[in-house]
Amino acid sequence: MFQHIEPYAGDPILTLNEAFGRDPRTDKINLSIGIYFDDEGKLPVMAAVRAAEAQQLQAAGVRPYQPMEGAANYRQAVQHLLFGAEHEAVKSGRIATLQTIGGSGGLKVGADFLKRWFPDSAVWVSDPTWDNHRAMFEGAGFKVGTYPYYDAATGGLDFEAMLAAIEQLPARSIVLLHACCHNPSGVDLTHAQWARLIPVIARRGLIPYVDIAYQGFGDGIEEDAWAIRALAADRTAGTPISFFVASSFSKSFSLYGERCGALSVVCPDAAQAELALGQLRATIRRNYSSPPTHGGQLVARVLQTPALRAQWAAELDAMRVRIAALRQRLHSGLGERLRAAGDTRNIDYFITQRGMFSYTGLSATQVDRLREEHAVYLVRSGRMCAAGLNPNNVDAVAAALATVML
Ligand code: PMP
Repeated sequence: MFQHIEPYAGDPILTLNEAFGRDPRTDKINLSIGIYFDDEGKLPVMAAVRAAEAQQLQAAGVRPYQPMEGAANYRQAVQHLLFGAEHEAVKSGRIATLQTIGGSGGLKVGADFLKRWFPDSAVWVSDPTWDNHRAMFEGAGFKVGTYPYYDAATGGLDFEAMLAAIEQLPARSIVLLHACCHNPSGVDLTHAQWARLIPVIARRGLIPYVDIAYQGFGDGIEEDAWAIRALAADRTAGTPISFFVASSFSKSFSLYGERCGALSVVCPDAAQAELALGQLRATIRRNYSSPPTHGGQLVARVLQTPALRAQWAAELDAMRVRIAALRQRLHSGLGERLRAAGDTRNIDYFITQRGMFSYTGLSATQVDRLREEHAVYLVRSGRMCAAGLNPNNVDAVAAALATVML
């Protein structure tokens, strides 16, 4: 019956993570999967989340189905966090926000909705992007192309090529953009670059689809939402830009397994937001009917209780600052070793790239050597998760990197 089924090769990152789990070496270091680990190499439980959970246990009772679109308090908290409570787009009610099963669920619900209502559009993603972007949009029936993004020569952004490519896209093309902390490269647009890109998007009548899975890990919670707020405020074409935002709390609340995410569709007016919300509810109904309760209520409680929110913001800030410090340490440790061997190449991209990830520029062969000879796990594209570094492993990583780079 099932012999014709093609074997699934597995997700490259999850497969690597499983291989890491099986590796018997005690000094192994996992810099592959996008998970934030603390100084002990453990997944943190944020104090604000723990406090919210204690409160929630007291209040726990019956568990009815949630509405298809999720809990109202959660949806409002998401909107306020992404757009700012005072943003015109929020106040005028022209954003349809739904609670989804992780950021992935948000991406998928939005992709299915777009395929139904914009069947002739194609999707354009950055080169490179998170592998699952292509898989999800192709899975929803779209053709997926790429626009230039990462510049291997500099470890930075090829913004002019990106802009030129986006300028050529037909109206209603769907352009997937990372709001901050680009996965996998760690390379982001500056505010000035966003300010040049957004009017092009408006003039060309494109549909931006913004993925924000690392809010708070780049420059700060509010700063990282800058592009989303700027898109929502743009009036270059006379009317607002309509766009999609898939967001995730997996990393920013360290609630990976609770699957807390959202999809927000920014519409020209409140009436169209109501139409979009209706069809998005239908999309959810046909897929999984409604989202789960627990994790979303933890997030909503934290975000809507001033003391917990302040505690969470401080904890997230500390995580961001800690990653930046570890990047600095890796940069100087590696730099010293390279220079000692007479290698003067510029490795500043380790500190200019933002968020959890860095493109190290290592080849697949070098990544294989790192894993086989030094038990240091990176993704074969050369992507390193800097959030897997800690004071106990950073020097070993610098030494291992130097060995394979020289
Ligand atoms: N987008 C990007 C860029 C991501 O890196 C991730 C998580 N790896 C997601 C979306 C999905 O987040 P979630 O785990 O909440 O589904």
